[in-house]
Amino acid sequence: MAAIPAPADLPAATPLDLGLYPDIQRYGASDVSACFSCGTCTASCPLSQTDSTFPRRIIRYAQLGMKDALLSSKELWACYQCGECAETCPTQADPSEFMAATRRYAIASYDRTRIARTMYTQPVLATVLAVAVAALFALFMYTAHGPQSGETLAIFEFIPEELIHNTGIVVMIVVLLAGLAGVVSMARAIGRREGVGWGSVLGGRAALARSARAAWSAIGRESLGQVQFRRDCDVDQETMPWYRQRWLLHAVTVWGFLGLLAATVLDYGLALLGIKATGTPVPVWYPIRLLGTIAGLMLIYGTTMLIIDRLRAANRSVRSSTTADWLLLALLWITGVTGFVLEVALYLPSAPIWGYWVFLFHVAVAMELVLLAPFMKLAHAVYRPIALFFVALSQTPAEEG
Ligand code: SF4
Ligand code: SF4
Repeated sequence: MAAIPAPADLPAATPLDLGLYPDIQRYGASDVSACFSCGTCTASCPLSQTDSTFPRRIIRYAQLGMKDALLSSKELWACYQCGECAETCPTQADPSEFMAATRRYAIASYDRTRIARTMYTQPVLATVLAVAVAALFALFMYTAHGPQSGETLAIFEFIPEELIHNTGIVVMIVVLLAGLAGVVSMARAIGRREGVGWGSVLGGRAALARSARAAWSAIGRESLGQVQFRRDCDVDQETMPWYRQRWLLHAVTVWGFLGLLAATVLDYGLALLGIKATGTPVPVWYPIRLLGTIAGLMLIYGTTMLIIDRLRAANRSVRSSTTADWLLLALLWITGVTGFVLEVALYLPSAPIWGYWVFLFHVAVAMELVLLAPFMKLAHAVYRPIALFFVALSQTPAEEG
């Protein structure tokens, strides 16, 4: 995926929404009213080689109230907020921050429940909600608690594994339904704009092969491999040591989160198959446990460094931070750290009583992280690959598939 291609044509009659720009500003957008479409940002953007209107076209949509055009722009998600365009803008419009705010706006617009809108536009309420959801999960689990053994740390006697599994399944169903609604909404908008339907994605072997290549590019190369982020959009690479480079911290956080998710699902799968009951003591080199430990350490490292970078405003992409940024990092960090502390507690010779409370806290925050995923910044982990799938499709004409 070398660069983003030029956008698909818009329908002749595009409805205007004059409240669009003020609304996007509620999501933290910079003041782009002075933008006169000079194109300086386009010249400095590493993604604009084949699209002479990116990123200023997105700003233009907002200024003109072209809401449908904005929400159906796959290019919006190709931007990794490197901040290069903000450095060169003669009007200090900060297009980089504007793009980030517009993605927040897009996540909220795809979400029909309006929870995402609240999470993004009402920081105090969002923080109260986040604390309340974690507290409710903890309280709910605690109502069914069992004894706290002092001989071994019997965490699943304290909080029954069936309760955790069943609650987890309910949470996953809610998340899938809420997330699916948003994903369908986004994919339909972009697909209509790009003229991509089921037939051009799945109709026949050539279409399937083209789609598979686009999916590999979006998920394998970009989302997991971070290829474009590393190659084009991490503009501070030369001045940063490798272990602090932005793309690496992002990648380590993504891999850590996915690794922990995989370890949890695999552990549940083994229990379902009757191979290993959840909570059975296993050595540290047991594959699933090893995966969980390594993934947890990656998550802790990635999120800790990202938090430090934001506190220090260490690079131009984190010059300003929103409550949504902090909330996601805090939930990821707490999940990683409490999971690791629990691992240590399980290996201590005596069973520390505090280990039970760490376990309860860990489960509550992890559940909350999953439950709120479609309504907070974490949703970009799904929306970005979908948009990049359409970008990759547009780079491979159907007849070549
Ligand atoms: S955002 Fe700034 S650099 Fe980009 S077109 Fe507008 S005025 Fe020019
Ligand atoms: S932040 Fe970087 S990738 Fe995004 S529009 Fe600006 S220059 Fe391009």
